[in-house]
Amino acid sequence: MSFDLTRVRADFPVLAREVNGEPLAYLDSAASAQKPQAVIDAESHFYANGYAAVHRGIHTLSAEATTAMEDVRIQAARFLNAASPEEIIFVKGTTEGINLVASSWGSRQLHAGDNILITGMEHHANIVPWQMLAERAGAEVRFIPLTGTGELDLSSLSTLIDSRTRMLAVTHVSNVLGTVNPVKELVARAKAAGVTTLIDGAQAVMHQQVDVQDLDCDFYVFSGHKIYGPTGIGILYGRKALLDEMPPWEGGGSMIATVSLTEGTRFAAAPWRFEAGTPNTGGIIALGAALSWVSALGLEVIHQREQALMRYALDKLSSVPDLVIYGPEARSGVIAFNLGQHHAYDVGSFLDRYGIAIRTGHHCAMPLMTHYGVPAMCRASFVLYNSEEEADRLAAGLTRIHRLLGG
Ligand code: PMP
Repeated sequence: MSFDLTRVRADFPVLAREVNGEPLAYLDSAASAQKPQAVIDAESHFYANGYAAVHRGIHTLSAEATTAMEDVRIQAARFLNAASPEEIIFVKGTTEGINLVASSWGSRQLHAGDNILITGMEHHANIVPWQMLAERAGAEVRFIPLTGTGELDLSSLSTLIDSRTRMLAVTHVSNVLGTVNPVKELVARAKAAGVTTLIDGAQAVMHQQVDVQDLDCDFYVFSGHKIYGPTGIGILYGRKALLDEMPPWEGGGSMIATVSLTEGTRFAAAPWRFEAGTPNTGGIIALGAALSWVSALGLEVIHQREQALMRYALDKLSSVPDLVIYGPEARSGVIAFNLGQHHAYDVGSFLDRYGIAIRTGHHCAMPLMTHYGVPAMCRASFVLYNSEEEADRLAAGLTRIHRLLGG
């Protein structure tokens, strides 16, 4: 299938809007992506025509909602090429997925003196839950250092992984630099040492095909809102054999087999054991619509288009005076930069006046800011609905700011 930018853009109603008298150039999709009409319709159709609580409902609407939700579990399993839908857990997002693993897996598998290995480019969501777990267990959090260009420096990996390493948790794609990490190789190295692996796919699944069986990871997690789905819903993939051994992390309705005041509770099987309470059924159904929308376009087609647009944008940005671009040559989805000595907030505020939305700040990756010795960066995201014209406007806007404020 070929890529038709006009048609793709027409699917996203918000892209027709103006900001400060200019057409909106939305270059902040890595924070949260806009929604195609199909996703908006799926969620509102559910609330208008089929809303009901799922599970155990004897009535038609409840049975329909339960089927719709379980169909998305099957769909998500296919999307990630999981071996079974029972390896798919609905969570609020990447943050909750990682906390679930740290809390549940960690409570049994991490002991005093053990260590967890992360990297210097993680989002706080893949740092803080491990630090909290390590604190509870008396364990250590180690990190793989970065090179100057923002890639993993794997030269010390064989000493970082030792006989007490229990978990390797690494981002597939950096949310700041766009670095695509060699996760398959890292998983293989970890497996060889008997280390469990978790991949943070929050910035990967919308840009490239992911196959969890090929990666051979134990856990893979992503958020719906970054792949054109709604907020408040995400997917945690977990290898069935591990999920079966993990204790629940939250107690409540829907995650039990039987509850007795005298004999205690027996829990449901995985994945339902990890889904306490009334789920976000509307969000799950709309996430299914988002995965269908992405799959209909095709991740290979999306990948090629986005890579071409990134090359174009980088070329345009190379003409902006005093622009420092961070990260490796090969990157996915995002371009991080600073303009001369100007604070990222000032640059972002000026761009907003020109109708251009970018993200500024530490991007929930303070250790990465420390690595580069800066308090903040600007980040422009380029995804399937962005255009060459928007890249031109970003470069022209930055050149104008440079002219107005100096270097
Ligand atoms: N990891 C990465 C790499 C991210 O980019 C993000 C979102 N910025 C997260 C984790 C957290 O995702 P969420 O806030 O949707 O839970």
